Amino acid sequence: MRIAVFAGDGIGPEVTAQAVRVLQALDLPGLELVEGDVGGAAYRKHGHPLPPETLAIARSSEAILFGAVGDFTLDHLERALRPEQAVLGLRKELGLFANLRPARVFAGLEDLSTLRPDVAGRIDLLIVRELNGDVYFGEKGMRTLDDGRRQGWDMMSYAEDEVRRIAHAGFKAAQGRARDGQPGKLCSVDKANVLETSQLWRDVMIEVAKDYPEVALTHMYVDNAAMQLVKDPGAFDVIVTGNLFGDILSDQASMCVGSIGLLASASLAEGSFGLYEPIHGSAPDIAGQGIANPMATILSAAMLLRHSFGLEEQAARIEAAVAGALADGVKGGDLGGSAGTQEIGDAIVARL
Ligand code: ATP
Ligand code: MG
Repeated sequence: MRIAVFAGDGIGPEVTAQAVRVLQALDLPGLELVEGDVGGAAYRKHGHPLPPETLAIARSSEAILFGAVGDFTLDHLERALRPEQAVLGLRKELGLFANLRPARVFAGLEDLSTLRPDVAGRIDLLIVRELNGDVYFGEKGMRTLDDGRRQGWDMMSYAEDEVRRIAHAGFKAAQGRARDGQPGKLCSVDKANVLETSQLWRDVMIEVAKDYPEVALTHMYVDNAAMQLVKDPGAFDVIVTGNLFGDILSDQASMCVGSIGLLASASLAEGSFGLYEPIHGSAPDIAGQGIANPMATILSAAMLLRHSFGLEEQAARIEAAVAGALADGVKGGDLGGSAGTQEIGDAIVARL
């Protein structure tokens, strides 16, 4: 199994190093880790945030473990050379079209949520967001009307096949989350009472559902979903939605969890390839101090094993080790604790 490791900038290398230790501690057969430069680090070395060497490593690997990119000292560069472009470039070049973000409140951390602890304690959901279509990528423009008023427009559009592949990603994720004899649940979020794209979305979801009879499909309008996410997030299992709605709902759900240092993510391509990264950025304010919480990256590595290699058992072992460390009070500064990056890595490796 060949995994590309792109640590990037700021705390990226610090948190990625701990996730690598965790992968190495699992004794995975044939594990091969190949490092590559991305972001500001790559710009300094190669003059580009996503150099061809890095792209070649990505293409010859089965998955990417990604740290973070971002370097405000390079803000003067033209847009195409900025560190953040590395993520967009990888997304485009590798066809990453599905973004998965789990939101879960670990036992003992209920108080960190902005929601009531009894409500927060039940949060264990996954948002599957489409990444390549929707209003962000439709025809757009700006013009000045005859009377001098400016008018801007962005076209929201989805083609059937674009919806079909994200539908499969959503159903597969729900299938994988069946527990204790309970089937996985998939809630498709749209605005089908108003939008044509959403009507198509809903039709395709219903069609694809036939391939997954063991998954319970429901539909919800996005405004109601936003309300329910705050009112009763524990009722959700997997949510599948378009790019725009998913952008908003995934940030909303992540804040219900309470800490940025615990939030993992996956961006998947067709087949088993994926890029896995914490949702936080390069955190320049704490970089180099050894105090960043590596748990989000370690949990991203668990997603990598699950989605790109089908290693559910090993993924669950990592998640249990993280939960165990947290339950025993091993907490980083972002959780009100004082454990450092290395110490948290040690605690998780010890529990594997
Ligand atoms: P970027 O421009 O790369 O997104 P940013 O300045 O937006 O960087 P983030 O990385 O998004 O920073 O972090 C926002 C805040 O959360 C910062 O104060 C940062 O220190 C903190 N933070 C982010 N990740 C972690 C982590 N893993 N552990 C502890 N604190 C973190
Ligand atoms: Mg940021």
